[in-house]
Amino acid sequence: MGRRRMTGPDAATRRLVWERDGGACAWCGGPVWEGDHSLQHRRARGMGGTRRADANSPANLVLVHGSATTGCHGEIETHPAEAARRGFRLGQWADPAEVPVLYVGAVWVRLGHAGEWEAQVNAA
Ligand SMILES: [Zn+2]
Repeated sequence: MGRRRMTGPDAATRRLVWERDGGACAWCGGPVWEGDHSLQHRRARGMGGTRRADANSPANLVLVHGSATTGCHGEIETHPAEAARRGFRLGQWADPAEVPVLYVGAVWVRLGHAGEWEAQVNAA
């Protein structure tokens, strides 16, 4: 086993995010078992972002198809403006629990650091 440069979420967090998102892609809504999937970090991981305490918080993670270079996750990474508009890409200093994310292009949801999922009925 080589040393990992970036520490990802632990197994319990991955399971929590999977269950919170209902086993569906937060970007397109399709079931993730139809393809590869990964957890996308909403806040950019540069500038030491992964070392911040909440980098692997459920609020900062969404379940999506593909990898950082393929599928829906790849689409998010290659369309930063659209990703930012939908709350999938946050500024370096944003608290992911404070910024809602647009699930499946349809429902604004506020994600909590403890795995909460709360639809924002009044959000535009
Ligand atoms: Zn998808």
